[in-house]
Amino acid sequence: SLVTRFAPSPTGYLHVGGARTALYSWLFARKNGGKFILRIEDTDLERSTQESVDAILEGMQWLGLDHDEGPYYQTKRFDLYKEVVAQLLAEGKAYKCFCTVEELDAMREAQMAAGEKPKYNGMWRDRTDHPADKPYVIRFKNPLDGVVVIDDMIKGRIEIANAELDDLVIARSDGTPTYNLTVVVDDWKMGITHVIRGDDHVNNTPRQMNILAALGADIPKYAHVPMILGDDGKRLSKRHGAVGVMQYRDNGFLPQALINYLVRLGWSHGDQEIFSLDELVQLFDLSSCNRAPSAFNTDKLIWLNQHYMKTLPAQDVASHLAWHVAEQKLDISTGPSLAQLVQVQAERVKTLKEMVEVSRYFYEDFSEFETSAAAKHLTAAAAEPLALLLAKLTSLSDWSAEQIQSQIKDTATELNLGMGKVGMPLRVAVTGGGNSPALDITLTLIGKARCLARIEMALA
Ligand code: GLU
Repeated sequence: SLVTRFAPSPTGYLHVGGARTALYSWLFARKNGGKFILRIEDTDLERSTQESVDAILEGMQWLGLDHDEGPYYQTKRFDLYKEVVAQLLAEGKAYKCFCTVEELDAMREAQMAAGEKPKYNGMWRDRTDHPADKPYVIRFKNPLDGVVVIDDMIKGRIEIANAELDDLVIARSDGTPTYNLTVVVDDWKMGITHVIRGDDHVNNTPRQMNILAALGADIPKYAHVPMILGDDGKRLSKRHGAVGVMQYRDNGFLPQALINYLVRLGWSHGDQEIFSLDELVQLFDLSSCNRAPSAFNTDKLIWLNQHYMKTLPAQDVASHLAWHVAEQKLDISTGPSLAQLVQVQAERVKTLKEMVEVSRYFYEDFSEFETSAAAKHLTAAAAEPLALLLAKLTSLSDWSAEQIQSQIKDTATELNLGMGKVGMPLRVAVTGGGNSPALDITLTLIGKARCLARIEMALA
């Protein structure tokens, strides 16, 4: 059956480009009833960190991309790689190369001087006069002629002449396996049927296919996903802003929005924009992926975030909002529930982070009103409507939106004022500023005692 994998190198956070590749692999497995494996490619000991492994696992979990097997760690599989290298060597499919750094440098310089593309010239490929006690690397005997054909599920047919490929180092002089070898062994031993990865790996693919063929392994199908660009047309990087998946969580995005955004960045289904994960599992296919790179568009992501804040069950949004509440150290024990907050604020903000920022007055008292809102609305003329409101609201036994609304109306009628002349002073009094959801709901959620005390403070 079908098996895909996501194989990140733990040298940083989970990049949105990596997350999109992971999503495509995950969707492809889920859609086809296959298996999705997580493999941590941590053989670069200098650059790999546990922190990064944790960030990758956290990012995958936050996005909801669960794996069926793993995480496997390549550093725990060195014995296996060594066995395979030894096997290739024993079968004459790999050989020891005793070239020194100086010899390799001289080779490269001579080739460049002759206007050739530098590559290893195979000088140890057929030699048997091996020196004793000299360091060596092990190289794969790449076929000398013929063509490797990648039938890429996204990019279409790609052909590479073996004459273009030199004999790749598969084990370093200290015996450790190289990247291309470990990928090949794992794809083989893990029974990967579909390799879906970034197209920065497309040059490795013919080499990996040759090694797989030498091992007698089934060659998986390949799908190389084009990269993501920033707004300047260059490869998306830190310079463009947030690139780590968890940075998007920190900035207040819902995983549903990021998933929907990432899947559409490079894949389409007619002109449909909104997809739930379940729907994607039904609809996703690799053949509808773009061949060209796509540019990251934050406005579109914000639009999707707003869509999901408004349309997901408030309780779901609230569970993500809770993280931001804790992050911003807001004590919510004396105010509305987070689901109630989502219901009144979802339309009004771009992100969950912003939702918490603009909602403090529901939970915390303040000692000052926003200067400009106060200057505009807490004027001498506001004292009379505020005083009358205070009296009316104080005597309300039913602190409901309808009752509050009718007191505001009555106040305006009795004083012969427009609704704004009553509502805006009230808004600034109870929220501290000039922006809030509808007044009746806002007052209901803030609660009677707090509202009355704040109106008194405005009148003082
Ligand atoms: N570990 C590689 C990377 O992070 C991916 C290898 C692969 O998908 O084949 O770029």
